[in-house]
Amino acid sequence: MKEITCKLLVIGAGPGGYVCAIRAGQLGVDTVIVEADKPGGTCLNVGCIPSKALIHAAEEFSATAHMLEGRNAMGIRVEAASIDLARTMSWKDGIVGRLNAGVTALLQKARVKIVHGRAAFRDGKTVEVETEIGLQVIRAETVVIATGSEPVELAALPFGGRIISSTEALSLRELPKNLVVVGGGYIGLELGTAFAKLGSAVTVVEATPQILPQYDADLVRPIARRLGELGIRLLTSTKATGLDGDALSIETSDGGSERLPVDRVLVTAGRRPRTAGSGIDELDLDRSGTYLRIDDRCRTSMRGVYAIGDVTGEPMLAHRAMAQGEMVAEIVAGRKRAWDKRCIPAICFTDPEIVTAGLSPDEARAQGFAIRLGQFPFSANGRAMTMLAEDGFVRVVARADTGLVLGVQAVGAGVSELSASFALAIEMGARLEDIAGTIHAHPTRSEAFQEAALKALGHALHI
Ligand SMILES: Cc1cc2nc3c(=O)[nH]c(=O)nc-3n(C[C@H](O)[C@H](O)[C@H](O)COP(=O)(O)OP(=O)(O)OC[C@H]3O[C@@H](n4cnc5c(N)ncnc54)[C@H](O)[C@@H]3O)c2cc1C
Repeated sequence: MKEITCKLLVIGAGPGGYVCAIRAGQLGVDTVIVEADKPGGTCLNVGCIPSKALIHAAEEFSATAHMLEGRNAMGIRVEAASIDLARTMSWKDGIVGRLNAGVTALLQKARVKIVHGRAAFRDGKTVEVETEIGLQVIRAETVVIATGSEPVELAALPFGGRIISSTEALSLRELPKNLVVVGGGYIGLELGTAFAKLGSAVTVVEATPQILPQYDADLVRPIARRLGELGIRLLTSTKATGLDGDALSIETSDGGSERLPVDRVLVTAGRRPRTAGSGIDELDLDRSGTYLRIDDRCRTSMRGVYAIGDVTGEPMLAHRAMAQGEMVAEIVAGRKRAWDKRCIPAICFTDPEIVTAGLSPDEARAQGFAIRLGQFPFSANGRAMTMLAEDGFVRVVARADTGLVLGVQAVGAGVSELSASFALAIEMGARLEDIAGTIHAHPTRSEAFQEAALKALGHALHI
């Protein structure tokens, strides 16, 4: 048995944990990070990065196939389109591999000691790790729990065989002929859309009356329209109740039932904190629902034990985990920091994409603000026209009295790249005049942001 003592021990090398360890190392904090799997966590290995690779490949393939059908307005014709899914997956694995190596190199550069194995708590400041070279005991002054989350399994549809989670979906070597996605949240719709573009017959089964239930109907409408164009069958207010051979039973809220033929059932019914089997449950930390409860410095209820990322709950996003990790590292190094972010932008990489930053109109009203709205459609944006991507809009939510921007939402092709300017505007306390008065380069889709601000001020120029 080997013993290590350190100032900071980070458990989990996902976006939260590895960023925390790198920043701590940069600040001279003696840091150890333990990872049971590959560095990069869910995001890099089975989440953000592989899903975006698959989405991009599917989009390219579907655009090419569309040209084949001769329905292409730009006059491009191709002779044939086919895809080798195994090769697509190898390409995706190559990107993941490069990023795995990159994270390891960054940790080494910051002089962080990396221990490979699953950490199990002995007490709040000591963990045991079963490694390839035997048992290691690590004692630390401060511990950061960054163990992330895992897919929720439905009792009626346990994972295995035809029933898969997003993790297996991102590694399929053969295209399922019939794919049913259970859960119409962003992960299910991103992957369902990608498989439909690759050629699967896709059905989405969602228990609530609307897909993407956290977004307002105006933002969701272009997505629903596109799902229809792609031939995806959308069954809302419907529950999947069980799989019998190759037939999935579903029940609608009005008592109807049906059996759907399936090769694969992709269950994307949410994620839960990963705390079981590592002694975290036994530490008896305060919870917020099933998640670890934290304060504005990511402190848990136990002194010297912090928690960051998905294990602390919504919004379960990689960039939130990273920002928390960076903040905690600075606190551990003695700097005065607290969570003071005004917004955490969120993106659905659906077709088209959705971006939200700050407050929606309903949230702003619920917080007692009198608001002004400005909405500008991409159908009036020159760049969107040249890219055959006119569906969608940018909407700005501002205080009626001061014009302070409270929130920005957008739906449209490629709007994910506008998320940084939306977040910057909110973080910097911009007013409508600041956005309207900033020259936005022409022709770009970002002009829709400036025009939405002008519209809220009552003098849009291009509509
Ligand atoms: C399909 C999919 C697509 C997604 N797309 C996006 C997106 O586009 N944008 C976005 O922002 N987010 C996206 N997410 C969410 C994102 O992946 C997570 O929010 C993010 O990975 C959370 O980071 P984390 O550091 O909290 O945890 P994780 O990334 O889950 O990392 C936790 C790490 O801890 C390790 N670990 C756990 N327990 C132990 C232990 N006891 N000992 C040692 N190691 C342990 C795990 O092996 C893992 O590597 C997506 C998720 C999925 C599933």
